[in-house]
Amino acid sequence: VRLPDPTARSGEDVEDLSLRPRSLDDFAGQDHVRDQLRIAIDAARGRGEPLDHVLLAGPPGLGKTSLARILAEELEAPFVLTAGPSLERKADVAALLTALEPGSVFFVDELHRLPRALEETLYPAMEDRQLPVTIGQGPGARVVTLDLPAFTLVGATTRAGLLSRPLRDRFGLQHRLEPYLLDDLVAIVHRSARLLDLRVDEEGAALIALRARGTPRVANRLLRRVRDFVEVRAAGRVTAAAATEALDLLGVDSLGLDRLDREILRSICAMFAGGPVGLATLSAAVGEEADTIEDVYEPYLLQRGLLQRTPRGRVATPSAFEHLGLTPPTG
Ligand code: ADP
Repeated sequence: VRLPDPTARSGEDVEDLSLRPRSLDDFAGQDHVRDQLRIAIDAARGRGEPLDHVLLAGPPGLGKTSLARILAEELEAPFVLTAGPSLERKADVAALLTALEPGSVFFVDELHRLPRALEETLYPAMEDRQLPVTIGQGPGARVVTLDLPAFTLVGATTRAGLLSRPLRDRFGLQHRLEPYLLDDLVAIVHRSARLLDLRVDEEGAALIALRARGTPRVANRLLRRVRDFVEVRAAGRVTAAAATEALDLLGVDSLGLDRLDREILRSICAMFAGGPVGLATLSAAVGEEADTIEDVYEPYLLQRGLLQRTPRGRVATPSAFEHLGLTPPTG
C-alpha cells in the first residue's frame, strides 16, 4: 500500500529528493544520533532481528524522514510511509500493517496527529506483533487476533510532548534532532552544490549556512534560489557577494529571518507593545495558522533569543526590538 508522500509539501520538496542523503555516512551532523543508530542497526543485523521501534522528534526539515529512509536502506528492508493524519480508522492501520513485508520499516510521519483511538491498535502490534480485529457486528461480533510480520515502526513528530506516555514508552530508541551546527550546514551546502553541479565559494557556502536557521531543508532551498540568481546575474558562481545579494532580494535577512518571522516579531513589538500575546491572537494578526507558527516559526525565534514563551503568551525580547530597529517600551 502506497499513500501519498506527506512530506512532499511542495514541488520544491519533490526536487529535494535528489538532495536527500542516502546512507548514514552521507547524513551530515547529529553525530550523537547517527552513532547510536549505527550501533543499533549493526546489533540488530548481527542478531538477525528487526530494529527496535524508533521515535524521531524535532522541528521540520531537520532530517527525520531522511533518517527513516536511511534506516530502511541500511537494513536493506522495504520502506512503507504514511502519516498520522491519513490514518483515520482502525481498518486503515490494519490494512497497512497486514500488508507489510517481513522486516519492513514502517514510517509514520506526524505521529502526534494519529487519532488517540488508533494508538491502542498500535500497542499490541508494536509489542507482540499482534493485531486484534473485530469481525461482524452486534451480539455476533467476535475478536480474532492476527499475527503480523516483524517490522520496525519509525515515528516522526515535531511535538513529542503531545504523544501519550504509553505510546512514547513503546519506542525502544528515542532521539531528538537539534538545529544543525554551522559547520554541518556548510558541509550540507557543499554536498548539495556538488549534486546540483554548482560552483560555490567557501564564503558563499558559509553565508547560506548562516541564514539557514539551523535547518538543512532551508539550506537547500536557499541554495536553489541563490543558484537561480547566480545563473542569471553572477556568471554561475556562488560568491559571498552574490549570495548576499540573492538572499537580500528574497527577504531573508542576516539572521535568516524571512518575511513572516519578521511579521510575527513586528506584530508583538509594535501592535502589542512587546507582549505577552496569546498564540491565537498572534495567528489572527499575522494571518498564519497557529500550528504553523508554533511548529515552523517559533522554534528558531526562541532559539535565537528573539522570542520568549511565558504562561501569559509570547513576549518579544530586547534583541527582537533591536533587530527590527524598534525602541522597546519603557517601564
Ligand atoms: P523532516 O522529515 O525532519 O521534515 P527531511 O528528512 O524531509 O526532514 O529533510 C529535508 C531535507 O533536508 C532532505 O530532503 C535533505 O535534502 C535535507 N537534509 C536533512 N537532513 C540532512 C542531513 N543530515 N544531511 C544532508 N541533508 C539533509
